[in-house]
Amino acid sequence: RAYASQCLQALDTTAALLRDCEAMLGDMDAIAGDGDHGRGMVRGSAAALDAATVAFERGAGAGSLLAAAGDAWADKAGGTSGVLWGAGLRAFGERLGDAETPTPDILAQSVRAFADRISNLGKAEIGDKTMMDALLPFASSFEDRVLPGAAAEDAWAAAASDATEAAASTAGLRPLKGRARPLAEKSIGTPDPGATSLAMVFAAVGPHFT
Ligand code: ADP
Ligand code: MG
Ligand code: MG
Repeated sequence: RAYASQCLQALDTTAALLRDCEAMLGDMDAIAGDGDHGRGMVRGSAAALDAATVAFERGAGAGSLLAAAGDAWADKAGGTSGVLWGAGLRAFGERLGDAETPTPDILAQSVRAFADRISNLGKAEIGDKTMMDALLPFASSFEDRVLPGAAAEDAWAAAASDATEAAASTAGLRPLKGRARPLAEKSIGTPDPGATSLAMVFAAVGPHFT
């Protein structure tokens, strides 16, 4: 179960990274939102890691482990981003499946399943100043590179760098979805917290998934 073990490590990396960034993400969310984005991401990712650890010890494969992690994330995080991350992670795991090391094609489809689930639930579009502004560029960039045959590792790293740039560019936007919408004007000049955390997490987990 080498790949399941790598997925567990991806969640461990995610939980550690979000603990380090909790205050920064909270401050960013406090500008026009309610300031709980850091706390929510820490709670969600910690619960996901716990659930994945239990699943791994019971012999779960990669996809089942991530699906269980997603359920725990949605259950424990609280807030909009927690529900969306949890559902997205479950969709990623379902598409990935429990077979050993996924082909680049399956990995791209799993990323797309993550994005589609969040898009269907949250109904945010590009430019609404949400996590979709980092996630959709990531998914497209990864597909564009990996499907023609680039190494998954390189494609993931390049897509993560595109997502980081896209997240930073949300600073110029006005939020059209979520709790930041009523104070939209205040948000101009600051990047979206959900797009920022998503780009950071995707950049950090690449070496585990590829
Ligand atoms: P809450 O807004 O419930 O306090 P968080 O602070 O954890 O939840 O998350 C806020 C982030 O959630 C926003 O920065 C944005 O990226 C994301 N978000 C909000 N609404 C949506 C939506 N409809 N679709 C996608 N992402 C969204
Ligand atoms: Mg919030
Ligand atoms: Mg909140």
